[in-house]
Amino acid sequence: MNVLIVGGGAREHAICDAIYRSKNTNIYSVMNNLNPGIEFLSKEYLLEKETNINKIVDYAKKKEIDLALIGPEAPLEEGLSDELNRNGISVCSPSRKAARIETDKEWMRNLLRKYEIPGQIRFESFSDVKKAKRFIEEIDCEIVIKPIGLTGGKGVRVSGDHFKGIDEGLRYAEEVVDKKIGGKSKFIIEEKAIGEEFTLQAFSDGYSILPLHAVQDHKRLLPWDKGPNTGGMGSYSCANGLLPFLPRSSYEEAAAILQEIVEALNKEDCKYIGPIYGQFMITTEGPKIIEINARFGDPEAMNVLPLLETDFIELCTSMLDGSLSNMKLRLNKKSTVCKYVVPEGYGIESIVGEKIVVDEENIRNTGSKLFYASVNKKDDFVYTTSSRSLAVVGVADSLLEAERMCEDALDYVQGEHIFIRHDIGTSQLIEKRMKHMKKLHVM
Ligand code: AMP
Repeated sequence: MNVLIVGGGAREHAICDAIYRSKNTNIYSVMNNLNPGIEFLSKEYLLEKETNINKIVDYAKKKEIDLALIGPEAPLEEGLSDELNRNGISVCSPSRKAARIETDKEWMRNLLRKYEIPGQIRFESFSDVKKAKRFIEEIDCEIVIKPIGLTGGKGVRVSGDHFKGIDEGLRYAEEVVDKKIGGKSKFIIEEKAIGEEFTLQAFSDGYSILPLHAVQDHKRLLPWDKGPNTGGMGSYSCANGLLPFLPRSSYEEAAAILQEIVEALNKEDCKYIGPIYGQFMITTEGPKIIEINARFGDPEAMNVLPLLETDFIELCTSMLDGSLSNMKLRLNKKSTVCKYVVPEGYGIESIVGEKIVVDEENIRNTGSKLFYASVNKKDDFVYTTSSRSLAVVGVADSLLEAERMCEDALDYVQGEHIFIRHDIGTSQLIEKRMKHMKKLHVM
């Protein structure tokens, strides 16, 4: 079977790695940058912008692709799934219409409202800052300001974390309108949900879902959750599929929410096929929906895909023919800790073109997985770009062991101008999360 993967990040490297484990597959890939990991696993690749629909469709036809998977959100928004489908190629990623669950935050919130899906938070969308001010005064709680469109996780401003007081927040809202941040002169004001965040990813065939292990991502740049929001600095998951602060009942509530969303999308004539991602805040009132993504998360894909024991291609086939409810999802019962290596200055002004020495063999010998992200390869070395460089994932029986394994592997990644959040997955940070939840009386 010829499989096409679109995207050149660590998430797509993890997808390729899962597909590579299936027998009789040839991987073809399309990426912006030459990802050395994807290059190694691919039979052939095309270096091309991931949103250049015509070129990608031509390439897929030429290579007689049977099945395509699209990693990032931008080509979904451009309608790559639809165009591949129109050309007779099966795609295990949502159509442009279904991907609106991620690409249009206003539409997403309205869908939740219309179908009375649990886990909602108060919100309203605006393009007029004065009207927004009245709404904020009315709801009288801490708020979050979000551009309507895609910002790669970097456009959200949370009161108390990124701004203080209504006026400072509204200055940012004005900037969103003036500069069309996220592509539109429109923003959402949301009630700030207070608690701990977690991610639940699932496979969907448009009717039912198969949920994976819960994961906690770390969006903030600096240790102890300081600094600006980034694309994600690392993440962890536990062998039992839950998280230290996440009880089974909340996991199940979150899975039921994703199931209801898939059903609502179906009723809206937006049948959802592919991986779906829910970001939740576990609060005193249960899980609240922060965001829904129309794809795997990055880094969260790296926590769950290495654990897949069910054949990934079989899962894709079941998603496509609507038979997911007959599948049994087998996952290796291990804990994982993923830490990203990023260029120094990432999130502010990255130091670009710096050499990173990666000793792949010794990393493998620790038992960890290595996933390349955005790097340029020259001779035997890789060089930083402005984005995240590579991720290392420890996989072990306990969280503690997975964290140690990840750190052991990181010793084999050397560079003068690289940065890593070493606190991710440590017992100190986990204890901080538990304390937070106990203080809020959630635990
Ligand atoms: P998003 O791009 O929507 O995932 O938002 C980025 C980050 O902002 C999330 O990971 C949360 O930490 C935070 N955030 C977004 N919306 C809310 C909300 N309503 N309440 C609290 N935090 C939020």
